[in-house]
Amino acid sequence: MLTPSRNALVPFVSVDNMMRLVLRIGAERMMAELAEAIEADFRRWPLFDKTPRVASHSEIGVIELMPTSDGETYGFKYVNGHPSNMKKGLQTVTAFGLLADVATGYPLMLSEMTLLTALRTAATSALAAKWLAPAGARSMAMIGNGAQSEFQALAFKAICGIREVRLYDIDPAATRKCARNLAGLGLNVVPCTSAEAAMEGAQIITTCTADKQYATILTDNMVGSGVHINAVGGDCPGKTELHRDILLRSSIFVEYPPQTRIEGEIQQLDPDHPVTELWQVMTGAAPGRRDAREITLFDSVGFAIEDFSALRYVHSRLKDSGLYQNLDMIADPDDPRDLFGMILRAGADAAA
Ligand code: NAD
Repeated sequence: MLTPSRNALVPFVSVDNMMRLVLRIGAERMMAELAEAIEADFRRWPLFDKTPRVASHSEIGVIELMPTSDGETYGFKYVNGHPSNMKKGLQTVTAFGLLADVATGYPLMLSEMTLLTALRTAATSALAAKWLAPAGARSMAMIGNGAQSEFQALAFKAICGIREVRLYDIDPAATRKCARNLAGLGLNVVPCTSAEAAMEGAQIITTCTADKQYATILTDNMVGSGVHINAVGGDCPGKTELHRDILLRSSIFVEYPPQTRIEGEIQQLDPDHPVTELWQVMTGAAPGRRDAREITLFDSVGFAIEDFSALRYVHSRLKDSGLYQNLDMIADPDDPRDLFGMILRAGADAAA
């Protein structure tokens, strides 16, 4: 039996263990705590290493790497986006990620991030709405009822006090699935047969569709004054959800402008169109919503710092949890220069 060094075992959080963690903490509480962790990191934004994510595009999708560091801890996520996967019975978005110690470069944790991405995306959306949505917003339209949708609905309930969610998807089966999953979770769930019907009386409009094209999920005449739009699905070059005229009427808030200008709804605008960085609203460096008639738009694409916050949150919950397996993924010989000797000794041990 070849035995790895105990020092270099890396905790791995599987999908199964992530589900146990969500069930143990509760999805709503976990997203509220993730939002707190993300806000704490957004408040120290300037000290992070920041770069637009590294994207490898193909005709039907994208594979991306999302790195960042706060100088003490480093994190990255691998994530894909393949809207046509669903027809093959596969997820549109899957992900995994890693945290590492900057002082040694050794990994601290490897984790599934398909579930964690849905949780952190919803937590970030609701966090943005906490700062930008009209006061007293209680009803949200949820357009696109796929994998992310229940997470979005529950995060807005937990963080923004939403009481009603109005569902619409071009595929009625997706709406039925979402309504079924949300039943009994404390929201008034209203399935609708058009985007217009879903938006009736809603103060918050979330678009979370998947299609690799310049789609027009919302046209200008559908959007009244004073609403908050949480645009989640447009997150790649050539993949948007809102008509350009809506953007021209909105105050636009983004995560990291150099990335959002490539990937977000604002790829449709001039490169110098003014936008506000969300972290600046949180620190008070920039205003959020100015008045009740303003349309605020969170042009969400997903930024590395949110994944970093989410990975650190999970890591902080692992001790004594039993919710991880140790992986032998770092070669760590007793004498650091005797890497080859480690193989020879292992061979001799195996032969004995
Ligand atoms: P999914 O494929 O599970 O669901 C997408 C849903 O959109 C499907 O049910 C589909 O029928 C519906 N849809 C497509 N076109 C529509 C239209 N014109 N009107 C109404 N509904 C329509 O995908 P998902 O995992 O829920 O992800 C949704 C989107 O969010 C994707 O585009 C994904 O890339 C994006 N996303 C963004 C972030 C972020 O941080 N901003 C994070 C994760 C995912």
